[in-house]
Amino acid sequence: MFRIIILLVLLAVSFTVVKLLRANWERRTDKAIKNKQKSDNILQCACCGIYIPEKKAVIHGDKIFCSLEHAKQHKK
Ligand SMILES: [Zn+2]
Repeated sequence: MFRIIILLVLLAVSFTVVKLLRANWERRTDKAIKNKQKSDNILQCACCGIYIPEKKAVIHGDKIFCSLEHAKQHKK
């Protein structure tokens, strides 16, 4: 009888560990997906209004431009 109780406890512990690991893994993949979405953001140029991906955007102060040229134009 004592062996069965130990076996049950071991089973419960292993189930909990698997559950925790899975939750952790899911959270990590969720974060990775969110990061990917962030890098694919589309932003609007404050000068000409064109839409550009965040990677190509020129950020000047709190404004976003499609090129350095437009960033300079907006300064004047
Ligand atoms: Zn522009």
